[in-house]
Amino acid sequence: MRINNAVKHFIAVFICVLTVFSCSAFAFAQDENVLTVGVPSDRCPVFYTDDKSKEITGIGVDLMMIAAENAGFEVSFVPIKEGSLKEALDNDEYDILMPFGSAVSSTKGKNSIVSENLIQTPFTLVTVGERELPPLSNLRVGMLKSHSGVAETVRTRFPGVVVVMFENMSECVKALRANEVDALLNNSYVWSYVLQKPSYSDLVVQPSAMFSMDFRAGTLDTPEGRALIERLNIGINEISVTQHQAVTLDYTSRKLYKYDLLDYLYSYGIVIALIITLVILLAVLTIQRMNKIKRDNEKKIEALVDYDPLTGLLSAEGFKKKAAEIIKRNPDKSYFLSYNNIRDFKFVNDSLGREAGDEVLKFWAKKSLENLSENEAIGRITADRFAVLRHISGDEKMKDDEDNVLIPVENYFVSRGNDIKVQICSGIYVLMPSDYINPDIDHMLDLARVAEKRIRQSREHSFAFYNPEQWEKGKRAALIAGSLQSAINSGDIEIYYQPQINYENNEIIGAEALCRWNHSELGALQPSEFIPILEKTGLIYNLDKYVWNKVCSDLNKWNKLEKNISVSVNLSRGDIKEERSIPEKFAQLIKKYNIPPEQLRIEITESAYVKSPEILIKTTEKLKSYGFRVEMDDFGSGYSSLHMLKEVPVSGIKLDLNFLTKSGDPEKSEIIVCCMIQMVEKLGLDLIAEGVETKQQAQFLHSKGANNMQGYYFCKPIPVQEFEKEIGVQ
Ligand code: C2E
Ligand code: CA
Ligand code: CA
Repeated sequence: MRINNAVKHFIAVFICVLTVFSCSAFAFAQDENVLTVGVPSDRCPVFYTDDKSKEITGIGVDLMMIAAENAGFEVSFVPIKEGSLKEALDNDEYDILMPFGSAVSSTKGKNSIVSENLIQTPFTLVTVGERELPPLSNLRVGMLKSHSGVAETVRTRFPGVVVVMFENMSECVKALRANEVDALLNNSYVWSYVLQKPSYSDLVVQPSAMFSMDFRAGTLDTPEGRALIERLNIGINEISVTQHQAVTLDYTSRKLYKYDLLDYLYSYGIVIALIITLVILLAVLTIQRMNKIKRDNEKKIEALVDYDPLTGLLSAEGFKKKAAEIIKRNPDKSYFLSYNNIRDFKFVNDSLGREAGDEVLKFWAKKSLENLSENEAIGRITADRFAVLRHISGDEKMKDDEDNVLIPVENYFVSRGNDIKVQICSGIYVLMPSDYINPDIDHMLDLARVAEKRIRQSREHSFAFYNPEQWEKGKRAALIAGSLQSAINSGDIEIYYQPQINYENNEIIGAEALCRWNHSELGALQPSEFIPILEKTGLIYNLDKYVWNKVCSDLNKWNKLEKNISVSVNLSRGDIKEERSIPEKFAQLIKKYNIPPEQLRIEITESAYVKSPEILIKTTEKLKSYGFRVEMDDFGSGYSSLHMLKEVPVSGIKLDLNFLTKSGDPEKSEIIVCCMIQMVEKLGLDLIAEGVETKQQAQFLHSKGANNMQGYYFCKPIPVQEFEKEIGVQ
């Protein structure tokens, strides 16, 4: 039993020892057969990391793999962490390193040993463009730092060559382009990969400068190292030429180079820019198109809002817009706005049906449109309410409207054999001058509606005015403006002369021409009434041309009788328009009647200078250059007279006593008149005082140095025959 136990114990110990021994023997055998090969990984296609497997691969890897397998090794490849092979030699994590051209010593100064040549690798120089290389004795070559082994071989083989090391390829290329080196040296296989980069298209391989380098594995020169290399050499020697070729062909024919973003930008920059431009253009065009569609739609919607679908007339909104536009565009025309409504329209609809109601509305619209002229408008405000904007003219036009629109509409059903008579109630608002500045159509419609309501409730007339006085005024203005030409032709408009006196000797020194209108319908009209109307309607020039011509013809007649007096005529602001060349017109006129220019004086009212200074100053200068005297009329009438005097080149001033003395403290008025006379004198301008009504006024003026006067005290404006008597012509 004891023996048994001892045997058992021995067996157990034996098994244990055997196990430990066999395990360690196995481990030793495994270590011996597995090689960790350190290689660079940035040298595609010789050594690089495969995108998919993430393992190091390449020509060098495959060749080493074949050789190692031949020699019975298992290999694993790891990237070299160190900057160079020399440093890597001192790291015992690698069993072996690649690639060596020849044996080099480690950084720590230890010797290394290298294997047989795995493959003869071609090395080529690359330059920028076709550059002629300096001789080898003087050549500066750029290389990658990781190629320090090769660099050392180059230095030994070509002692004259200066090798400059760079961290990476882009720095190499930068230095080459900056001419810091003459050429770059690298493995031809690497070049075949690197030069695929589009931005390196200017780099050129120099085939003439090709040389071949050995491609070996190496390790520190130790007994283990020697054993390892010896064993590996057997495997290397077994690699056939066909295997060499197959491996290199495999990698050099693969499309290994992958474009990065910059490559794409470089290669397709113009195309990309073009595409971007096109896209932007397309976007802009699309936006424009969309905006146009939007605008068109808005217009369509606007049209829907602006027009009434039943009658085709403007809607309330459309009418308001159009009416305001017309009024603003025609400030010189007189307008009225009417609000029209069918009395008891509900009754029409109820008894004859809606269609019949619509019919009469359409008929009304049609008739009204036919009667409308340019710059007038009509719109349907709501159901049976129409608004109309019309010029004011005489009563005949109203009668026309009645005959052509109102009566046919009122009789619409009667004339179709029905006894229902439609009644239209109209309220009329006549536009006031202030309505032309900022036309408020809503407000005007409201006022017209007030008048319309009055009619509707009274059941008397067919229309009423909100402001009948304004209507009368408007009608009168229309009549006046409308009859100007016939009045000139028929002699209803006459020129009166108001003498101007030299107070000291009581002699007539001249006259002002003022017109008088004896209207065939309205009787004697005052200039204060018709002049503003003619100015507003733009007709004043027609009158003034007539006046100036008549005055010149009278002057001509008097000159012939040797009564050479001067006459002033009025020039209205409305006369002066650039294209009319007023000064030239006056020049032609005096030429025609053979009158010296100083006999025709031209009065321009002070307010005109204030309202349009530029053109008036220009006109004044021109008139003066022709020799005419230009007088500033109504001086002191309340505009900025003093300031104007500085700016305007007039020859004289007409001081209007009416403005200066009519109201306020008489003593103060005297002081003002006195100062004005002195001022005008000091400015070297002529002075004539007008509106002199009393002896005291004349004496006062004279005492202050004013001698030329005009006014009722001396004489009212008188017809030409009377004036001729005054100057002794008849
Ligand atoms: P105005 O140019 O200031 O003409 C002087 C006005 O004062 C005239 O009024 C004249 O009759 C009036 N007058 C003259 N002496 C006295 C007086 O002692 N006291 C008062 N209170 N008034 C006096 P008239 O003729 O009624 O003309 C009024 C305005 O109409 C003129 O003012 C002038 O601006 C304008 N006018 C008259 N005829 C023409 C014309 O043919 N063409 C133009 N463009 N305007 C004219
Ligand atoms: Ca005048
Ligand atoms: Ca005056």
